[in-house]
This record gives sequence, C-alpha cells and structure tokens, in this order.
Amino acid sequence: METVTALRARRILTLADAQPATRRSELLAPLAVLDNAVILSKNGLILAVEPYARCKRRTGCTIADAGDVTLVPGLINAHSHVELAALKGRTRLGQGFAVWVQSLLALKQALEDKGAAMADAAEEMSACGVVHVGDINSEAPVASTGAFFRAGVSVSIFRECFGFRTVHTPDELRVVQLQDTPKALRPQCALCGHALFSTHPHTMQLARQDCEARGKIFTLHLAEHDEELHCLLDGTGTLSDILHERGILPLGYRPPGRRPVHYAHELGLLGKNTLAVHCVHCNAEEAGLLAATGTAVCLCPRSNAAIGVGAAAPMDLFMDRGVLLCLGTDSPASNSDLNLWNEARTLRDAHQLPPQALVRLMTVNAAHALRRPELGRLTPGCRAAWAVLPEDFMLQ
Ligand SMILES: [Zn+2]
Repeated sequence: METVTALRARRILTLADAQPATRRSELLAPLAVLDNAVILSKNGLILAVEPYARCKRRTGCTIADAGDVTLVPGLINAHSHVELAALKGRTRLGQGFAVWVQSLLALKQALEDKGAAMADAAEEMSACGVVHVGDINSEAPVASTGAFFRAGVSVSIFRECFGFRTVHTPDELRVVQLQDTPKALRPQCALCGHALFSTHPHTMQLARQDCEARGKIFTLHLAEHDEELHCLLDGTGTLSDILHERGILPLGYRPPGRRPVHYAHELGLLGKNTLAVHCVHCNAEEAGLLAATGTAVCLCPRSNAAIGVGAAAPMDLFMDRGVLLCLGTDSPASNSDLNLWNEARTLRDAHQLPPQALVRLMTVNAAHALRRPELGRLTPGCRAAWAVLPEDFMLQ
C-alpha cells in the first residue's frame, strides 16, 4: 500500500480557488500564497496542502524539503507536435510559413531515429515542470505517447485529419483516421483538423462533431500566417502554389473567400470544446467572435516569431474581449526549445504581463481549455504534479 508523501516548500501557489481567467483584470488579479507549506499526496493524488506547522504534528509522516522555492501547479503545454522532434534545428526559419513548411515536408520524409528525439523532447518538457501536453499526431501515436509516458507526462492525443479526401460520417472518419492506432490508445484520441487550407471543410466538421459527441476537445491551427489569409481569401500566394503542386488542394479547388476565423465560424468549428491554435491574424471583431463562442486560443509566440508569420498574436485584443488563452511551444521544428517558461517570458516581455497572469495561462486556463479538471490546481483530488516557479517570475 502506498504511503502518504509530504513535500515542504518556502511558498506554494495552489490556485485552489482560481477560475479560468479571460479578461485582463482577471488575469492580473493577485494569487493567494501559502508560506512555508506542505503538499500531502498519496497514489499520485493530492490529499491536502497545509501549513508546515500543522503537517509536522501529523504522526508517521516524513516531510521532504523542496527548499527555498515557490511551487505552482504542474504546467500544461497545450500545443506541440513531438513527432517532429527530430527536425529540431533543421527547418528553414524566418522566411515565412511557405518556406518553412516546404523545408519541413522535404525533411519529414527522411526522418530517422525519431524515437530518441521524441524521448529527448518529452524529457525537456518534463524538466521545466510540464506535466501534460496537447500533442498533435499525424502518424500513429504509439512512439510519442510512449515517450511522454516514460517522462512522466500525460498527454491529450490529437489525431490529425489532413487533406481533401472526403468521408461522409464521423464514424467513417474515425475508422479511416484511427486504423493505424492501437485499440488501447483509441479512446484517448480526439480527431482534429490541421488547418482550413489543408483539411477538407467537411472533414473538419465531422471531426468536431465526433469530438463533441465524445466529450473531447477539437483543435485546429487557425489564422496562423498571412499566407493562410491569401489562400482562403482568393487562392493566391506561395502556399497555395505549394498545396496545388503537392496535390493537397484538389483540381478545381475554390477558395471560400473568407478570413479564417469567420470561415471557421461558418463551418461550425468554433465553440466551447474548440482549441484554436495561433490566431495571429485576428482583428477586434474576430477576437470578439472567439470570445463570444467560448473558443479557447493557444498562443505560440516563439513559433510565430521563428517562422515569421507576419505579425504577433493580438494579446491585448484577446484580453479586452475575454478570450480564454493558454500557451504552447508548438513543435521542435519551429522553436529553439520546449521550455514553456521561455514561451511565457516572450509574452511577459512583449506585453508587460505579471507572473500571476502567465502562471494562470499555463495552469488553470490550459486545464480548462483541454478539459483536464484534475490539473491546473494544487488542491485535494487533483494530480500531485507541480513545477518550480523560476526566480525571474517572482510574484508582485
Ligand atoms: Zn502546430
């Protein structure tokens, strides 16, 4: 029988009463701090978070000491593609999405020894305090899920539907999409779309319907780069040419003539169980639409900057309109590392955000966006999983 474990820290931010924060004032609100406190856990679940003095009076409880640190709930990296880990440092960055994706597609076919790279990526995430990842899989997720498992990181598996081949029902889509996925992993998989320019709109709708019916989160890349705008508005641009050359866009393809967020809304893809990734090219009205539909947005600022997608996501608009935001590193093919704190530092420096706002994005907000109520807080019944707050995130 597993015994109770106890870990003391100088300070603990439990976020026990924290609700998902969308408005600027909610994100910036102070967080309650427990000084000199202990996390008690058993069988991987938290029993209590209490003052050290009280815990010391418990009999038969050995208290380990984390030292002079501040603990926060384990971090959630809401968007990654760990299957691309072997491409780290090998894609062409800084020249826009079309150049980047061309380099990625060329390299992807020649990937070798992906397992070791995936293991390193999962370990890198774990080392910075990430305990859960929203991970996109275009291939069978056996290797990536195994890498996360061995690193002690849980995963929301998003099985990506790509291309313009048509299917007719959610069931048919599940059969096509999960045929190479072991039966044991299928219940954990949620179908997702890649992007509006690369996945058939009907497939997107079926995938989302399937997610809704099964209580899963549907995710897609949305409004990431200016090439996407051209592709959807009038079918022009380098990305459109690449998609036609590779046969991803079918002959006779007609662009919808809509901006990404509006098109996604028309297709019924926005809503409370949707996590839209990037949303860089959003105006005030589109930010309002994301907020009104309850669509969560995962920001990946370093990936956007590395690829050169034409702008930075309108963080201020999102906070003004009340969009639920979380953070992701995106793939190792478009980022220098997988340290989620570095993602937060980029946002902090660009928008002068205080630590409590950034901690909320990576914990309680992300847990809500991915529907993982056992994460994001250090409170009884939640997973005994935490991160150490870096010194440059000292609370105000
Ligand atoms: Zn991505």
